[in-house]
Amino acid sequence: MLTSGMSWMLEIEHLVTGYGGVPVLHDVSLKLGAGELVGLLGANNAGKTTLINNLSGIFTPMSGRILFEGQDVTRLTARQRVELGIVQVPEGRMVFPEMSVRENLLLGGINQRAKPHRAQQMEHVLELFPRLRERLGQKAGTLSGGEQQMLAIGRALMAEARLLMLDEPSLGLSPLFVQYIFGIIDRLHKEGLTILLVEQNLNLTLRHAQRCYVLERGRIAVEGSSDVVKNDPRTRSAYLGL
Ligand code: ATP
Repeated sequence: MLTSGMSWMLEIEHLVTGYGGVPVLHDVSLKLGAGELVGLLGANNAGKTTLINNLSGIFTPMSGRILFEGQDVTRLTARQRVELGIVQVPEGRMVFPEMSVRENLLLGGINQRAKPHRAQQMEHVLELFPRLRERLGQKAGTLSGGEQQMLAIGRALMAEARLLMLDEPSLGLSPLFVQYIFGIIDRLHKEGLTILLVEQNLNLTLRHAQRCYVLERGRIAVEGSSDVVKNDPRTRSAYLGL
């Protein structure tokens, strides 16, 4: 929970959302303090991606509110939310395969807030990911999965994310790359970035996040510090669908 001096950066209140009028998330409430690293866990189809897509503005909720630093952003477009610093790293990376690494990064920093600092941000990203520096002129589609994940995170940093939302960053990566990417996530957190980490990988997320929420079939089944969530029997049952 919040320690003194910290304020809520993100507040989701009673969110109901779905597809074609059929709810997939039912009355979901969640909060994220400035500077926190919070995990959103859940089995396949629990609704994690649906939630993140509503936060980034790809979808609009049926009811409920999303507040960012106290401002109601529920009806803002995805572009307006990026301008505020709400930035998503999508599941499956979604880099532009025919564009070079450099072009992908520069595109990330195209919003009005970030554009004036693109050169500086690029240096930060390339310092974080030396591999991307070596591959700046290479087409993004020729990168390995792990390198594409670096690029997707780098692109979000180029957008000057203030709330970074990562959708399943471990998906399809070798254990070595997973370890590396989670080291980067820890570093970004230490640098003060607020991070919502959406993951299916329970143990990995519990190790890195301070607090976690567990989604089960569109509802928050468990929430609390990672220790509390780890020891709550409902966490395992949410995964096993019991
Ligand atoms: P995964 O880990 O498999 O990505 P998830 O927890 O992110 O799962 P969602 O992708 O949010 O879950 O899916 C939640 C529910 O919404 C599922 O029942 C899914 O079939 C449904 N769903 C997701 N996207 C759509 C869509 N575009 N149209 C209709 N139903 C959808």
